[in-house]
Amino acid sequence: MDIPFVDLHENYKRISDRIDRELAEVINQTSFIGGDKLAEFERNFADYIGVEHGVGVASGTDAIFLGLKAAGIGVGDEVITVSNTFVSTVDGIIHNGARPRFVDIDADTYTMDPNRVEEAVNEDTKAIMPVHLYGQPADLNPLREIANKHDLLLIEDAAQAHGARYEGKRVGSIGDLAFFSFYPSKNLGAFGDGGLVATDNDDMAEQIRMLREYGESTKYEHQEVGYNSRLDTLQAAVLDAKLPELDQWNEERRDAAALYNDLLADIPILTPDCAPFSDHIYHLYVIQTKNKSERRALKNHLEQNGVSTGIHYPIPVHEQPSYQQMDYKFADLQTTQKTSRRILSLPMYPEIEKNEIRYIVDKIETFYED
Ligand SMILES: *Cc1c(COP(=O)(O)O)cnc(C)c1O
Repeated sequence: MDIPFVDLHENYKRISDRIDRELAEVINQTSFIGGDKLAEFERNFADYIGVEHGVGVASGTDAIFLGLKAAGIGVGDEVITVSNTFVSTVDGIIHNGARPRFVDIDADTYTMDPNRVEEAVNEDTKAIMPVHLYGQPADLNPLREIANKHDLLLIEDAAQAHGARYEGKRVGSIGDLAFFSFYPSKNLGAFGDGGLVATDNDDMAEQIRMLREYGESTKYEHQEVGYNSRLDTLQAAVLDAKLPELDQWNEERRDAAALYNDLLADIPILTPDCAPFSDHIYHLYVIQTKNKSERRALKNHLEQNGVSTGIHYPIPVHEQPSYQQMDYKFADLQTTQKTSRRILSLPMYPEIEKNEIRYIVDKIETFYED
């Protein structure tokens, strides 16, 4: 059996008629930049999340960069965030001239440990930016409390958590600002790059609309030195066709995760923990092995049996070559470091079949029997 890590084609087949129709409409109108379809998707996604504004941009990376800029984060400022994330969470801080201050993660949820945040606050701190990693919301209530106490912004990197809920509320609607990515393999994925900033704040939304469009306030009048970073209208059409299915697809991911959890229960690996406050949407299904060499051997064993796996992420941001010139000697990131050596992501997508999950677990079982 050959089991891919994700299967975008199976997903496309389910609603190809609707997607093709939506794309044809945009092509017929030859309205490729901006236009009704983009506005429609931005409105629908903002309503789905439960925020006032959705501003579509060219990628999740640009959402982070432009969002932080609109929030006024710049030279001399610090943003508290995590190191076990996709690197672009942190790149957006650096590109605005600010500094990341990494805090460690909670060992069970892999997200920012709220108990480590207050000691990281100093006079330069402007924001706290947790990441809802793998589709599991970070523990936002205590983070909100700390943010309020020190007059900081709470900003969500929700690039892996479209539709996840924290205490019943959609993530992306809780922070002052939230970032989404529509990279093809995300839970809501485009047919190329795309991203969005979600916020209730009128001024920040306006600012990002201006920045993404050459800094233009009215036609050919440029209020700011801007960028060209719009969500492509063809991508908005794809996303708008998919959005009504998102809850169903997330439910199917949860079912797949429940089956994995069940079947893996007696095998000596750690399965993902779903915190009581969270409605996990399993962007990734991540297990933990005993150590790095066991992980390597298990990964190879699965590969040899046709099962593709991934590691998210093998190198924490603070250990990336691009971050070596920076000074993090005060950071204690033991849990981040330890988990990066042990985590392994198993195949996860809404269309994965029960017999495929059984096959994967079966192969994991034989690995531990040998
Ligand atoms: C995917 C991702 C991003 C970047 O999004 P792109 O659309 O690929 O630029 C940022 N943060 C996290 C946590 C992500 O998973």
